[in-house]
Amino acid sequence: MSDPDELKILNPATEEVLATVPAATAEDIDAAVVRAVRAQSRWAALAPADRARLLRRFADTVDAHLEELARLEVREAGHTLGNARWEAGNARDLLEYAAGGVERLLGKQIPVPGGWNITFPEPLGVVGVIAPWNFPLPIAAWGSFPALAAGNAVVLKPAETTPLTALRLAELALSAGLPEHLFQVLPGHGHTAGRALVDHPDIAKIVFTGSTRTGREIMERCARLVKPVTLELGGKSPNIVFADADLRSALDPFSFLDNSGQDCCARTRILVQEAVLDEARDFLADALAAVVVGDPADEKTQMGPLISAAQRERVRSYVPAGAPALRGSAPDGPGFWFPPTVLTGERHDSPAAREEIFGPVAVLLPFSDERDAVRLANDTPYGLSGSVWTRDLGRALRVSEGVRAGNLSVNSHSSVRYWTPFGGYKQSGLGRELGPDALTAFTETKNVFISTEGPAQ
Ligand code: NAD
Repeated sequence: MSDPDELKILNPATEEVLATVPAATAEDIDAAVVRAVRAQSRWAALAPADRARLLRRFADTVDAHLEELARLEVREAGHTLGNARWEAGNARDLLEYAAGGVERLLGKQIPVPGGWNITFPEPLGVVGVIAPWNFPLPIAAWGSFPALAAGNAVVLKPAETTPLTALRLAELALSAGLPEHLFQVLPGHGHTAGRALVDHPDIAKIVFTGSTRTGREIMERCARLVKPVTLELGGKSPNIVFADADLRSALDPFSFLDNSGQDCCARTRILVQEAVLDEARDFLADALAAVVVGDPADEKTQMGPLISAAQRERVRSYVPAGAPALRGSAPDGPGFWFPPTVLTGERHDSPAAREEIFGPVAVLLPFSDERDAVRLANDTPYGLSGSVWTRDLGRALRVSEGVRAGNLSVNSHSSVRYWTPFGGYKQSGLGRELGPDALTAFTETKNVFISTEGPAQ
């Protein structure tokens, strides 16, 4: 069966149709890549200061439209207004940061006998970015902006359900003065537009954020063309809470409820030391009951809906009626609602404790001691993030060393800053985004040796 040629964009809080958007075909992708190749060669030829200036103007333009972008994210993705404002600000800040890197993209001079040796970080060409629906705006920015700063053009395919903020970003880029066709956004289906981007010989690199299953397929297809990939994939992150921790902060339910749990870094395995398990259960029961779930455009709302009916069905399949659980509440009526839930009767190896649910559902599991905590934390194919809560600094460091994940926080649940590296171990991904090396991921290193030995006398 062929994919529909239009995408119907729903407001997940009301199920109303917000927009219909044409779905790009493989031919559309091909034409966009042809345009991008031309735009990239002109962009790379600009003086670095001019490229940096244009990217800063783009940042200013995003800044001037922050509230508009945030409200669009609320409508198409169901994010709470507070979160959506942070996300739009994150896109602006990353642009500023990436613009600062344009004139600092340095090569090396390496000592060699008989001449000089210099390396050049050169742009790759046209980069393909494939984004998911859970953080449509920031993830479009993370893949695209450092690539542009490093001298590349970008063709971005947003997720089927959430193309509107990315389309708006591309309009803002043009109005800020970025060259035409340098940053193109083509909404479409994964199996047509997404695959066409992955398979295109003139796409020099793919940056993919999404499920591990799709990431694996993309990596296989890229292998045929020996095309580099950055993969930001799924997670099942541990929240390791020792008995000496500040339990109120450690068990903050937004460690797994933020964005309705549709967060690759959600701490959905709450590992609690046995001595405080009962206390933790009591605290979580009260905390879940207090979560305000509802209209994401209301300033007081703490958690919005899930993205779609299909996602809600998926989440529901992990929470059978009668399963032992702590539960909050959620609205009835239109919208894809699911209540905050902590499953309390799961084993470490049950599907709810091992698989990424991608909804407001966590499991509460006990551990005995430090060694047991690290063993359980690592007993997963994923390795994206995690938290360690203890007042014992030595233990915090030992556990941080022991847990195999790309983004850990000690006595904190934070994961993402645009100026620190982000990415996963194991099946959570490949490569890193953001941070001081973000631009380098979009360059090839050329090595040039210059002989200083004259002709034989
Ligand atoms: P998904 O894999 O279904 O889709 C992601 C994107 O890939 C979409 O744009 C989709 O159209 C496209 N796609 C689908 N099949 C494709 C194919 N065969 N070829 C090319 N493109 C294809 O993921 P999703 O459900 O949209 O997103 C949720 C997943 O994303 C979760 O697993 C989550 O953990 C992960 N995620 C990871 C990070 C991270 O940084 N590690 C961040 C956010 C989300």
